[in-house]
Amino acid sequence: MTQHDLFSQLPALDRLLHDATFAPLLTKYGHSRLVETLRLMLTEARSVIRKEGALPDWAQAWAVEAETRLHREDTSALRPVFNLTGTVLHTNLGRAIQADAAVEAVSQAMRAPVTVEYDLDGAGRGHRDSAIARLLCELTGAEDACIVNNNAAAVLLMLAACASGEEVIVSRGELVEIGGAFRIPDVMRQAGCILQEVGTTNRTHLKDYRSAINEKTALLMKVHTSNYQIAGFTKAIDEAELAELGNEYNIPVVVDLGSGSLVDLTQYGLPAEPMPQRLIGAGVSLVSFSGDKLLGGPQAGIIVGKRALIERLQSHPLKRALRVDKMTLAALEATLRLYRHPETLRERLPTLRLLTRTAQECTALAQRLMAALMPHYPEFTFRVEPCLSQIGSGSLPVDRLPAAALTLAPLDGRGGTLEALAQKWRSLPVPVIGRITDGRLWLDMRCLEDETGLLEMLLK
Ligand SMILES: *Cc1c(COP(=O)(O)O)cnc(C)c1O
Repeated sequence: MTQHDLFSQLPALDRLLHDATFAPLLTKYGHSRLVETLRLMLTEARSVIRKEGALPDWAQAWAVEAETRLHREDTSALRPVFNLTGTVLHTNLGRAIQADAAVEAVSQAMRAPVTVEYDLDGAGRGHRDSAIARLLCELTGAEDACIVNNNAAAVLLMLAACASGEEVIVSRGELVEIGGAFRIPDVMRQAGCILQEVGTTNRTHLKDYRSAINEKTALLMKVHTSNYQIAGFTKAIDEAELAELGNEYNIPVVVDLGSGSLVDLTQYGLPAEPMPQRLIGAGVSLVSFSGDKLLGGPQAGIIVGKRALIERLQSHPLKRALRVDKMTLAALEATLRLYRHPETLRERLPTLRLLTRTAQECTALAQRLMAALMPHYPEFTFRVEPCLSQIGSGSLPVDRLPAAALTLAPLDGRGGTLEALAQKWRSLPVPVIGRITDGRLWLDMRCLEDETGLLEMLLK
């Protein structure tokens, strides 16, 4: 067929729009979007004819192709997925999933005007963190609190407001990189502080801090080295010792905790994590931690500590740039309220619920899935295997949580390949995200809560 013949086979836009098969698309997506899509398809078809001397494959069914394209445009960039990676707080998957109470609070705050900075008693306008600050003080024993966009912002604000143009003493063993270009020395520079490194990579003593103190010292800082651990001949001083030293010289002590937990995780059989309230109790001036790590709330940076210092943070111009919106405040408040009821926390806070699932529960879940899926995937072998999940988000890299996974591998000669299966499952309506290790696809059961939903989708 000549190019001319092919061009003459292309439908006219008007004819397509009046064709009955396009009527549902017209209703669903509207006239202008449909016209725009069809125009693009026509342009594309002409270019394919010129380059390849043939019509594109989809030219057999214009309506189907238009529907696919319009639908694809409408799928959100934030797709819900099944997180079967085994990492509970997965940064690339949005970290903590929110408690129902937080979801409801956010939804309410979105639908109506809310008293973010409006004092109904007429007793004068409080700052937008006041209500949450009261909760945080109750939970941590601190005098006041400040909320910003994330913990990186919290560190920046603490440094800029308390030590700009002055010296901050930090141990060499704590000059960490958190990921995403967050490095303590760089943040210091951004905040206009002069970094005064003390000690060595593996050992830092109290006398190292003491001998570095001079009239330019504005802060003593500790950074929780959450994402790595040095083993062997090591020494770091604890926060209480540093707080005492700071007290002696009247220099504030700040701690970047990263993933602080407001409950003692060991009571659930989990590895110990530092708790903000313990640091406050030990006399630390300011402690910062993330809202969406172990706390299990929305992305936020939380700073608790001494009133005079928090006031400095609240009145610093950067606070205006780093403050959070009403949705974050609503979710954070609802999440913190759950901590007032320790008896129901594990059941209501998804992060804690997932972290405390036992290996037995995960095994039982994997076995049920295996029994249901096996008959439908004859090209694969299935196994239920023990595995180790991770908390994620830089917490406790060496501590793993015993769990179980459903693992699949292709049966030789049956044509199925692992990569193809993983790809197919990633392109489902709710993508299934596992990991491929040692020639098997691993689906860690720790974070699977919607068992029925997953099965329905995989068996369709
Ligand atoms: C995670 C972490 C940060 C960064 O916190 P975000 O909330 O991700 O901005 C900073 N410091 C430490 C020690 C951390 O663990």
